[in-house]
Amino acid sequence: MEAVKAVAFKHSSDVRPLLQTFNDMVKECIKYALSHNVSSPMKVERALYEEFKQKYGFATHYCISAARVACNVIRSWKRLVKRRRADPNNPPTFNALSMRLQKELMRFKGDRIVITTMPHRYVEVPLIIGSYQKRFIDAWRNGELSLGEVTLLEDRAMVTFKRAVEDKIPIGYASIDVNLMSIDFLKVKGDSAEYRKVDLKKLYGIRVHYFEKRRKIQSLSKHKPITSKRLMQKYSRRERRRVNDILHKITTSIVKELSQEGLAPIFENLKGLSYNATRNKRTKRKNRKVASLPYRKVQSLIGYKMAWLGYKVQYVPARNTSRACPRCGRLSKTNGQVFRCKHCGYEADRHFVACINILRMWGHGFAPKALDEMIEREGLGRGNESNKALRTST
Ligand SMILES: [Zn+2]
Repeated sequence: MEAVKAVAFKHSSDVRPLLQTFNDMVKECIKYALSHNVSSPMKVERALYEEFKQKYGFATHYCISAARVACNVIRSWKRLVKRRRADPNNPPTFNALSMRLQKELMRFKGDRIVITTMPHRYVEVPLIIGSYQKRFIDAWRNGELSLGEVTLLEDRAMVTFKRAVEDKIPIGYASIDVNLMSIDFLKVKGDSAEYRKVDLKKLYGIRVHYFEKRRKIQSLSKHKPITSKRLMQKYSRRERRRVNDILHKITTSIVKELSQEGLAPIFENLKGLSYNATRNKRTKRKNRKVASLPYRKVQSLIGYKMAWLGYKVQYVPARNTSRACPRCGRLSKTNGQVFRCKHCGYEADRHFVACINILRMWGHGFAPKALDEMIEREGLGRGNESNKALRTST
């Protein structure tokens, strides 16, 4: 199996003119592709090649790259239009100052990137290397890692490294349910099972905090639109950074726990769900205004970190994982923190139920007796103290 990891390297070179030119090229490609109703990058590239060459004088590969990015932007826009999340009369734009550097356009030297702009013309971007980055560079120099894609941004470069990892054969599995307030997982190894809850309340608090902040800034927008926009960007960026930072720490500790015990993760597949279903997955109406937790991001963080260690991630369909009764299999509506089966009366923590159902979907069943014992042991039944605490704190 091949594992991939993206590592950020800061740089202080002025690459803005380069990125801006690329951005202009992409915009022109989008315009052309839409007005001529073309969706193939090759066709766009062929049509604009001569014009670009005269206007910008860049190496041929920039043209190909720009056409490819433009077609991707259009494709995802069309997908959004289909789902009614984008206006069909409002064509897409490309504002990102970023550029994927094709192998033909750059050479990675470990401490710097050398970018070809025109034949025999180069731009050197020295990279700032901390101890974290150095580990990857050393491994790459030793031949343990190979180079993947490199994306250049205004202040940093994202470098992906690839590694051939030996597939680990798991000695057990852990079904993982990502929620607004917690990440829940159920570890099973042979006959033993253990349920764990990782608290996300701090993360939720941060998001509420920034939500309030954004709302205040919004009220400023009438009188001071420019200041308001600037502040909005600043705080959005700061929120993203803080949220990502915490998500990285949490997922790293979960991955550490699972890999030490030799367990492979199982997730519900949220890919098929609509945007709204993913966003509002089990959230209450009042929570919708707060920037939603990126459920799929949490999954992919755990997923790629486990893959880096050689563990394959399993996915099961996300159908009814929170509504099916683990004992009788029939569906009930959940309300609050406790799942109550209206058919057989079974009661347990709803996230625990989801974890059981994910495992069951994947093919790992539980005997009714084992289920009851686990609920008794973990204190997940009705009226239990720990469960009460859960209910009042949300
Ligand atoms: Zn039931």
